[in-house]
Amino acid sequence: MNTIDATAGMLIVGAGQAGVQAAEALRSGGYAGPVTLLGDEAHGPYHRPPLSKAWLAGEAEAAQLVMRSAEALARKGITLRSGVRVQSLDRAARRLRLADGSVLAYDGLVLATGARPRRLALPGADAIGVHLLRGRDDADALAAGLAACAERQAPVVVVGGGVIGLEVAATARKKGLAVTVLEAAPRLLGRMLAPALSDWFADLHRAHGVQLELGVALAAIETEQGRAVAVRASDGRCWPCGLVVVGIGVEASDELAAAAGLACERGIVVDDCARTEDPAIAAAGDCTVRRLADGSLLRLESVNNATEQGKCAAAALLGRPRPFAGTPWFWSDQYDRKLQIAGLMAGADLHVPRGDRQASSFSFWHFRAGRLLAVDTVNAAREHLLARKLLDAGRSPTPEQAADTGFDLNTLLASASIAAPVSGNLS
Ligand code: FAD
Repeated sequence: MNTIDATAGMLIVGAGQAGVQAAEALRSGGYAGPVTLLGDEAHGPYHRPPLSKAWLAGEAEAAQLVMRSAEALARKGITLRSGVRVQSLDRAARRLRLADGSVLAYDGLVLATGARPRRLALPGADAIGVHLLRGRDDADALAAGLAACAERQAPVVVVGGGVIGLEVAATARKKGLAVTVLEAAPRLLGRMLAPALSDWFADLHRAHGVQLELGVALAAIETEQGRAVAVRASDGRCWPCGLVVVGIGVEASDELAAAAGLACERGIVVDDCARTEDPAIAAAGDCTVRRLADGSLLRLESVNNATEQGKCAAAALLGRPRPFAGTPWFWSDQYDRKLQIAGLMAGADLHVPRGDRQASSFSFWHFRAGRLLAVDTVNAAREHLLARKLLDAGRSPTPEQAADTGFDLNTLLASASIAAPVSGNLS
């Protein structure tokens, strides 16, 4: 990749986690030309994870959502333009056209356009009272809807037993609302967790009073005067509701890239250095899908992925490509439990529990052919960090060592030069 000359500067489309990281990494990487962050939301960059947790529960201040203020970005020489939608991309001319008709030239471009929630393809899916959750405006509308349900003592139906649906269910239960979760698959968090941990989460939600229905095929959302009043399954069962929250996954916002002829397969295809096939364009975060060395495609939707790929995108445009480093990680908060995932468990042939699932904290260690692939911890932040260090260092306990709580896993790092044992309060 050629080093970009600084006349038109760097443009970043999408002022979210990946976009902000890319902008800041361009600066910290020594880029001296103009850097402009373009975002179509009215708000400046903010953290999304609290939207289904503390913010939705009314337990966070607006200031805690702010990722970077326009002033903080300006101090780094980054121009933030909010409320600006990029309409099209002309790769030959290296230009972006904005929704207001204006045109911006670029030397280097980062696409960090994120993802949008998938909609239900059912009658009634667009009724009043059917909520999706991606942005701050969605969260505020949902919070108002939950407050109205609390006032009318109307039940909440969550469609989708994935992370977003379950976090919203937990928050709604905290507010004392009656909650039903409807999941099409036979278990919760099925794409993410081993069956035993899925079952543990199902028990957790039931213990908190959630009505959980698994293996449900939905037929329609019933409406009265345009408002959702019940969710009906194809077997005739019906759950009355004051509102419906749909959390059935996301679709990458890759239309800008696709229309400009960049390869897209359920996301903008990038290599492990966040490069597209156009040397002037990198892409990062939820809008991407990563081509791995074996040709397969990896899609990750997490703060960690957006952060790391944002940095990779900047490095690529600076002519110093570097691959995505480190073990992927993720977290989710439900009630007083923090699930943390280190690594990717796809392909695991052995899931080893460590610690007692009835206790306040425990973990699951996932292996393939005896090698550690991933670790899921519940309320065990120190073990999560230790697992990341082991995976980063390519160290693997044996399944027997992982199962034995008397075995000090730190000793596996002792001979690795990369890390000191994990200690201290890391919750
Ligand atoms: P985004 O943050 O979505 O930013 C993309 C931005 O680009 C958006 O503002 C979008 O409006 C804008 N945009 C799109 N198209 C255009 C255009 N044409 N012109 C201008 N702007 C455009 N991850 C975790 O790891 N842990 C969690 O606990 C967790 N909780 C979450 C809770 C919720 C409710 C949500 C929604 C997500 C959560 N995530 C969590 C996921 C995490 O927030 C995302 O993976 C991360 O925000 C992705 O960052 P991004 O920059 O790729 O995309």
